[in-house]
Amino acid sequence: MVRSLACSAPRPAYSRVRAARGVATVELVLTQGLREVCQGASVLTMDADSVPDALEWLARDHPQARGRIFRVDGRIRESISLFVNGTEFDRTGVAERPLRDGDRIELVSAIAGGRAAAAASAPAALSPEDIRRYSRQLLLPEVGRDGQHRLAGSKVLIVGAGGLGAPAALYLAGAGVGTIGLVDFDRVDLSNLPRQVLYATEDVGQSKVAAAARRLNAVNPRVTIIPHEEPLTAATALERIEPYDVVLDTSDNFATRYLVNDACALLGKPDVFGSVYRFEGQLSVFDAQRGPCYRCLFPEPPPPGSTPSCAEGGVLGVVPGIVGELQATEALKLLLGLGTPLIGRLLLYDALELRFHELEIARSPTCALCGPHPTVTALIDYPRFCGEPAPGTSAEIQGVEGLDPRSLAAALDSSDPPFVIDIRHPSEWAIGVLPKAHRIPREELSHHLAEFGRAREVILVCAAGRRSAQAVSDLRALGVGRVRHLEGGLDAWIMSGRPLDEVA
Ligand SMILES: [Zn+2]
Repeated sequence: MVRSLACSAPRPAYSRVRAARGVATVELVLTQGLREVCQGASVLTMDADSVPDALEWLARDHPQARGRIFRVDGRIRESISLFVNGTEFDRTGVAERPLRDGDRIELVSAIAGGRAAAAASAPAALSPEDIRRYSRQLLLPEVGRDGQHRLAGSKVLIVGAGGLGAPAALYLAGAGVGTIGLVDFDRVDLSNLPRQVLYATEDVGQSKVAAAARRLNAVNPRVTIIPHEEPLTAATALERIEPYDVVLDTSDNFATRYLVNDACALLGKPDVFGSVYRFEGQLSVFDAQRGPCYRCLFPEPPPPGSTPSCAEGGVLGVVPGIVGELQATEALKLLLGLGTPLIGRLLLYDALELRFHELEIARSPTCALCGPHPTVTALIDYPRFCGEPAPGTSAEIQGVEGLDPRSLAAALDSSDPPFVIDIRHPSEWAIGVLPKAHRIPREELSHHLAEFGRAREVILVCAAGRRSAQAVSDLRALGVGRVRHLEGGLDAWIMSGRPLDEVA
């Protein structure tokens, strides 16, 4: 029998479940990334007795969502944050209470989009020109001359000079933040112009940070712009961030987000986080000294390739504009000591419904970075942590030929399908196996050469694509000619919405 992979045993009929247990009618609210795999639904009403139960029903009704929510082993992914009535859901189950009618469960999936930055010194006194330039904010008693001086002596690093970083930089320069560092290695592309408001058509093809520095200095020559035309890496991050008072994470990828978070926490700097995707934005201030960090909210990144970037999924240009300006506002508040920063809160912005919604987030007692027993005490290999090919360290895997789930599905349906081998440990097969796959543990491959050694093509499959890539080399060494592997493994396969076979 073939059925899609379930995270638990097959379930009895829905009506029987309802009759047998005290289930509640609850609302399940989905963020954009999840709506796409749930036929566009943003709010679902369902009967469930617990949060995992509600998620299971969701995955049953929308099989494509299953891989986004559950890992292959059935656990809820840590790249999904869960809230019940605005309060973070306790996954340990300790504080879990039965759901009640009208409860609101919110699923927030990490989004990558946005774009990426470093700093100098302040004018000693306000010149007549300064007084004219800043007259509107000098009129605010909360800013005044003291505040303006403070801004002039402040340093903000913007990591990503794209859709979020561009508007943020313009407003921070306009407000008179004395030193603005910009980190970005990209060049201006025509497709950037609808949202990256720092750049003009004539800048296309030029270095972003160089073009940004020209524009920002044209807006405010009193501000020092420090361009860093390079990616932020674990080797450079501490040195880059150290001189600054506040960091804006306006990057567009998970490796940079975790890097900025960790470096800021290690250095005790606030990380003003913003991200966007399509019509949706997320915003928070991570300050490990006063509240949770990004790892508290998302202990692990989504599986590689599961969350489309803005380049793949699109974004309405004004959305990063709004989120980037909110990031600039939070930075100015932090520098001036004004108001209540967005620490311990996650702000969600839904442009289509024009809805701002706030969720409480707490420091996680198990956070690998800011928890009581940290395991991350120095910067790590972020591309590797996020499942991206790590240059140098995984050269053997990078050189291995792979194929994606769609290509494998097409090959399996062809008239001359490849010989597919699931090389996982037999204990892992119970979770589900790839349709039509032969099951031979990696250690036993050499004993089964007679079965597949003459196949036109062999495809190796494991859970996440790492062991299968290594096994490709094993088979090559044994003289097997045409051999490839499934990139991202079964995790990528179910993430693409394809079912696994149950093991009889
Ligand atoms: Zn943390």
